[in-house]
Amino acid sequence: MVDTDPRRHIPRTDHLLALPEVVAAGESRSQATIKAIISEAQTAARAGEIPVAEVAPTIISRLSSDSASSLTPVLNATGIIVHTNLGRAPLSEPARQAVADAAGYVDVEMDLVSGKRSKRGTGATQALLRACPEAEDALVVNNGAAALLLAVTALRGADVSGGNRAGSDGSAGGGRTDAAGEIVISRGELIEIGAGFRLPDLMATTGSQLREVGMTNRTHLDDYAQAITDQTASLLKVHTSNFRVEGFTAAVEISQLRELADEHDLPLIADLGSGLFEPDPYLPEEPDIASALAAGADVVIVSGDKLLGGPQAGLVLGRSDAVQRIAKHPLARAMRTDKLTLAAIEATVANTENPVQEALHINLDRLKERTERLAELVSGVVVAHDGRVGGGGAPGVPLPGWAVELPEYFAAKLRTGDPAVVARVHQGRCLIDLRCVPEAEDQRIIDAIARIRGVDLGDGEVGSSEL
Ligand SMILES: *Cc1c(COP(=O)(O)O)cnc(C)c1O
Repeated sequence: MVDTDPRRHIPRTDHLLALPEVVAAGESRSQATIKAIISEAQTAARAGEIPVAEVAPTIISRLSSDSASSLTPVLNATGIIVHTNLGRAPLSEPARQAVADAAGYVDVEMDLVSGKRSKRGTGATQALLRACPEAEDALVVNNGAAALLLAVTALRGADVSGGNRAGSDGSAGGGRTDAAGEIVISRGELIEIGAGFRLPDLMATTGSQLREVGMTNRTHLDDYAQAITDQTASLLKVHTSNFRVEGFTAAVEISQLRELADEHDLPLIADLGSGLFEPDPYLPEEPDIASALAAGADVVIVSGDKLLGGPQAGLVLGRSDAVQRIAKHPLARAMRTDKLTLAAIEATVANTENPVQEALHINLDRLKERTERLAELVSGVVVAHDGRVGGGGAPGVPLPGWAVELPEYFAAKLRTGDPAVVARVHQGRCLIDLRCVPEAEDQRIIDAIARIRGVDLGDGEVGSSEL
């Protein structure tokens, strides 16, 4: 029988390994990487996803790509500023520079004058305290969830204004056999952070119990007061950053909880989610660090890579005794950030450039001009389009602006093109919102659309008369 299935003729591994381009790639790429790329192309051909003739070219093209990792830089044309799937906050130029500078050997734990060991993270801490004078001390850990775990674990049962409280069994607090205790929190604040990670489950890993008080829509000060026993470890206030409860609602302010916490010598922890230093008139519902501390939180917790516009990190700011207690807890070592994060946090906080804040407060006249120009050059239509803060907070707050509308099929082609452009797909349309696109990149989006149109027209050329 004649063999007509071309998939039987997929090039063999030894043949592919011997290709000159593949041999040359071996100078820089590991053998494991090369073999994996070869095997993926063979598998794709076997599955009929690529023609057999494309196996070798596919491998060569992947090996010659100059990106050092599989992470592809993306132009975010969705209008969603803190886009979780696109890595949340894009770093500012100073932060990128700081990361590059810190990438080699760096004096992260050495005083270059004395040659002696120095405290890690001092620069980041000082920058945070300058940006937030209401805080007496600050600590940077891996992410917001880590900061929250650490804070509730380290502060439970702690009288942060003095020594340890006595244990519930009457033993001296120092023994802390009862340390787990109960964390009092409003039912309306029991959030799922994302992708199935729920606050109660996270808290359970600390051994503490959540003591839920109030109702989903309404919680009163008395609900907290009734729940406090000698088992109570702390009062926790969590910002509902990814949803909104509207209508018949009531929540207890930090300042009211402060009085209660003082009556019972309990620590008060506020997880704010996003990291605004001060109130932002655009986002009236979003809490800020300065106000939360002024209202009486012992510590506040925020993420570094939401509205703060920095790298992934969890920041703890507040009273120095509380922050020090957290910093000295053994778990803090397991949540320690690397030098790259410390460098990026410091540069983000100490400089004015901030792509997240710029996208949020974008000049609308300029955004409109850019959108109209894009529409004209790619034969699209300008439509009204609301951007969003995204995973960083302010749910339901629209950021009015515009987008260029194209047929839906553009979206997939733009995503898989070079540069990769992620547009919004909505109701069968591809919407390109320039809010989060640096203006200098507009032309690359125009070119990318032009190339897709060029292929559509069958002339394979960029710059047909229509464009
Ligand atoms: C985002 C968020 C967290 C988790 O922070 P990460 O930095 O993602 O770990 C915790 N609490 C709240 C209220 C949040 O919004």
